[in-house]
Amino acid sequence: QLDETVYMDKLSTVGQMAAAFAHEIRNPITTVRGFIQYINSNTKDESLKQYAPLILDELDRTNKIITNYLTVAKPTNITLEYVDVNKVLKDSVDLLRPFGSYRNVTIDLELEGDHFIYSDEHHLKQAIMNIIKNGIEATEEGQGGLVQIKKVHGEVKGTIEIYFIDNGIGMSEKQLEKIGLPYYTTKSKGTGLGSMITTRLIHEMKGTIDYTSKVHIGTTVTVVLPTLRNMKEKSRKEDE
Ligand code: ADP
Ligand code: MG
Repeated sequence: QLDETVYMDKLSTVGQMAAAFAHEIRNPITTVRGFIQYINSNTKDESLKQYAPLILDELDRTNKIITNYLTVAKPTNITLEYVDVNKVLKDSVDLLRPFGSYRNVTIDLELEGDHFIYSDEHHLKQAIMNIIKNGIEATEEGQGGLVQIKKVHGEVKGTIEIYFIDNGIGMSEKQLEKIGLPYYTTKSKGTGLGSMITTRLIHEMKGTIDYTSKVHIGTTVTVVLPTLRNMKEKSRKEDE
């Protein structure tokens, strides 16, 4: 049976320690950020004015790394509930639409039927948003981008398949092998943690994630998740 105890057991001790450290590190960062902003808006020092945005950017990047860890590792954050997959997909797309428009990327969403999974809504949302964000960021400069998202009944009964198809820069075989490794990034402001976290979250949901890609053609991310009915069947079989 997939209850909260089993779910939390999956979270490593290392992850929980990371969460504790992350929490402690965050407070001083917030303080430092506030001071830099204050000094920046009151100074006449030109070099300080020039470097302050860089300092703020780096602090924000640090915060982002910490946030990614916290959301995944913090055990108290987990609430298992019936999650409406369509709702989470719609919400994620709505949240990322402004970022998409800013990068001249259209996001398309196609939903076949209603599906529920038993999971933590925020985890599913974070996983989905990481994938869509990568799709948007993959758009090549000066090109209009498209991220197509399709959710369909899975080929295997009791599963759903979600496809995230972009027409961006794509990845070579070598790059495909590295995706999901911690800190692997090809972006100047990337954290290289998004895909690692996404993979971990999808696996926690007993799902799978696969990447296929062609350089300059685009990438397809396929997520397969067991739906609620399948989970019930599974646990019933295990009980027998
Ligand atoms: P980040 O986005 O911070 O770089 P991720 O773990 O999300 O970290 O992604 C790691 C790397 O995988 C990216 O820097 C990029 O090179 C590659 N990648 C991920 N998704 C895509 C995609 N949809 N198209 C092309 N490359 C991608
Ligand atoms: Mg990313």
